[in-house]
Amino acid sequence: MAGYSILLVDDATFMRMAVAQMLADTEFQVVGEAANGIQALERYRTLWPDLVLLDVVMPEMDGQQTLVGLKQLDPQARVIMASSLGEASRQREFIAAGAKDYLVKPYEQERLLQALRQAVQA
Ligand SMILES: [Mg+2]
Repeated sequence: MAGYSILLVDDATFMRMAVAQMLADTEFQVVGEAANGIQALERYRTLWPDLVLLDVVMPEMDGQQTLVGLKQLDPQARVIMASSLGEASRQREFIAAGAKDYLVKPYEQERLLQALRQAVQA
């Protein structure tokens, strides 16, 4: 099974745990986690993962700023944004800034896997 490395970025520990559980026994391997954008950029530099799942609302540096930073660091970065329904109106803004997709939390495993699979094939 071909594997893809993924960095999980969310300030909520339980959310990262839930995603990690959903990705267990799939082709996606969680190689790192971050609780804010600053950590995310640090981890990305070290890990250079195939994918980033990026929360929007976070302290220190939010998801939008982080997206910009990631794309500056690596224009090829594959980033999927995720947030609550309240941020969904910003979806087009995120896609325009280079995000591959946008997911509404709480995560549904099917939709999550679909988004990740599409992102690595694109
Ligand atoms: Mg958050």
